[in-house]
Amino acid sequence: MSRNAESTAFRSALEVIRAVEPRVADAIGAELTDQRESLKLIASENYASPATLLAMGNWFSDKYAEGTVGRRFYAGCQNVDTVEALAAEHARELFGAAHAYVQPHSGIDANLVAFWAVLADRVESPALKKAQVRQVNDLTEADWFALRRELGNQRMLGMSLDAGGHLTHGFRPNISGKMFDQRSYGTDPATGLIDYDRVAEAAREFKPLILVGGYSAYPRKVNFRILREIADSVGATFMVDMAHFAGLVAGKVFTGDFDPVPHAHIVTTTTHKSLRGPRGGMVLCQPELADQVDRGCPMVLGGPLPHVMAAKAVALAEARRPDFADYAQRIVDNAQALAEGLLHRGAKLVTGGTDNHLVLIDVSGYGLTGRQAEQALLDSGIVTNRNSVPQDPNGAWYTSGIRIGTPALTTRGLGTAEMDQTAELIHTVLTQTTAGANADGTPSKAKYTLDPGLADKVARQATDLLATHPLYPSVDLG
Ligand SMILES: *Cc1c(COP(=O)(O)O)cnc(C)c1O
Repeated sequence: MSRNAESTAFRSALEVIRAVEPRVADAIGAELTDQRESLKLIASENYASPATLLAMGNWFSDKYAEGTVGRRFYAGCQNVDTVEALAAEHARELFGAAHAYVQPHSGIDANLVAFWAVLADRVESPALKKAQVRQVNDLTEADWFALRRELGNQRMLGMSLDAGGHLTHGFRPNISGKMFDQRSYGTDPATGLIDYDRVAEAAREFKPLILVGGYSAYPRKVNFRILREIADSVGATFMVDMAHFAGLVAGKVFTGDFDPVPHAHIVTTTTHKSLRGPRGGMVLCQPELADQVDRGCPMVLGGPLPHVMAAKAVALAEARRPDFADYAQRIVDNAQALAEGLLHRGAKLVTGGTDNHLVLIDVSGYGLTGRQAEQALLDSGIVTNRNSVPQDPNGAWYTSGIRIGTPALTTRGLGTAEMDQTAELIHTVLTQTTAGANADGTPSKAKYTLDPGLADKVARQATDLLATHPLYPSVDLG
């Protein structure tokens, strides 16, 4: 693809937008500048390709397409059928899945689709049968009460939040915590690793309907074969949420016991994290759950986003190319180089390292909270996010950890040498930051001091590091 075509496409798009609301065009341009200039270490973010981005800005956005391919509730969906079928086919081929549902608008939506599919499949509920799709308008108030009673108190066992689990795996701030009676499994306090014997014990005691694997902040591989055996031993449905590491599965870094797709009954994911696609979600499942999964819209989803499904098809096609496997391997090589660089400078890492795309620094080693470290790094041009560590004494708001990930920087082309330099920058900022005090002299969890001159110097070094690997080199907005 010529540089010219990509530059022309984005320039023309901005020109058209500018004619209507110039401030939006300016904000879009400014966003590109910000992304180009910041050292982005947010583990859940990436940079989608120009082809993926462009596939979203078109007439597909104008189309209603409730239903599934070939069975729509709206007329004139033949072109939507084409892109949805393509996205699903690429997803099945890429992940070796029996069935793929590419309509979810986000990772949370994909999980809701999965939860409802499992409930509908597993719970003997005449009320639910009645509630499904076409009869939903016929439900009386008594039916709704019956539905709640019949589905109620179902159990979910998932990874605890402070060990790296996700809110949607049965925690209070999310609807999953209201739909399910939840219990969680943590990690071994000594090693920081999942203790599968403890998971098995919890499953035996709790007898969950759904055992959930997957995480947002666990820096290690997970043995999905063992988790499936545990699920089978208690008759649970095994669900894996691979939102964070789908790119590593797609790129065949996680294979065998570490590939969730052959082991789980149902797998959910986002498409915009390590998978490097458009912002969205997806469900993969075994054939027996396919019918229920396909009811996602309108059961829990609004009308599908055909323009995003078009972009999913493009991104999944990209992920099937051999260079994506190389990309996935470089993500992990970079995360390990970053971990090494931090460790040998004296940082404390949860589990002592990583075998995926993310590293969790326990910043209590620097005498800081996660909140102080996050802000000090941001002052220095380094974008990360604070995150709990296991048994975090500072809770979920201030935290004691900084989560960093390599998918985005790896997309830019940075390699292991630059990761060592990045580790140096992070370590410098964190050693030079001191925790502040409240007015009454007690230690503050938010205030800190960092010499602004040093922050500026690190920010310039970060910019120099990034200048060697420009973002979207093919796009020149002029
Ligand atoms: C990011 C994430 C989600 C949510 O994805 P959204 O697209 O933000 O809704 C769900 N599960 C896990 C494990 C995640 O990391």
